Amino acid sequence: MFNLVLFGPPGSGKGTQSANIVTTYQLQHISTGDLLRDEVSRQTPLGVEAKKYMDQGLLVPDEVVIGMISSKIDESPEARGFVFDGFPRTRAQAEALDKLLEFKQTQIDLVLALEVPEPQLITRLVGRGQSSGRSDDNEEVIIKRIKEYHSKTEPVAGYYHTQGKLERIKGDGGIDDTFKLLSKEIDNYLLPA
Ligand code: AMP
Repeated sequence: MFNLVLFGPPGSGKGTQSANIVTTYQLQHISTGDLLRDEVSRQTPLGVEAKKYMDQGLLVPDEVVIGMISSKIDESPEARGFVFDGFPRTRAQAEALDKLLEFKQTQIDLVLALEVPEPQLITRLVGRGQSSGRSDDNEEVIIKRIKEYHSKTEPVAGYYHTQGKLERIKGDGGIDDTFKLLSKEIDNYLLPA
């Protein structure tokens, strides 16, 4: 199996690039944001609870997200590997993911961290809010999400750096340019020279 974490702040392009990666490398996409939005739209008990946090730009509690990921992994026993998008976002989630994968005798292979300057993130997210209507893409909530990223999620990069799995990628160019940089790292890993 080949398991990849696509890491980065809100608006860094994780969703867009995950779609490119899963098609090119035939992996299974797991986005906790998409899974949570699906629960919210179906008004499940989990969705109703999660919405309270999402609307405020706060992270949903670890146990909720970890449970969701665990069942999602179990749904795809034949997967060649997974692209984790928007997960893990805390150290507790990263540790739980390691345990879940270890249980399946596999592991995270590579963590690609997209880096985009903050003013560009805000411009992108405000634009997305206008076109997609995502309720958490308004300026007030965006600022809170970026704050939450700095305090809780950024330290996860250190967790993977210590394991020798982290590669930083410039994500401020166009979609195709960024995809080239990402695929170069993946190819280097899969087919070392
Ligand atoms: P995203 O689509 O990844 O930007 O996620 C949208 C919102 O869903 C976030 O602002 C959080 O409220 C929630 N969320 C998504 N993934 C996670 C996660 N791994 N841990 C906690 N909350 C999450």
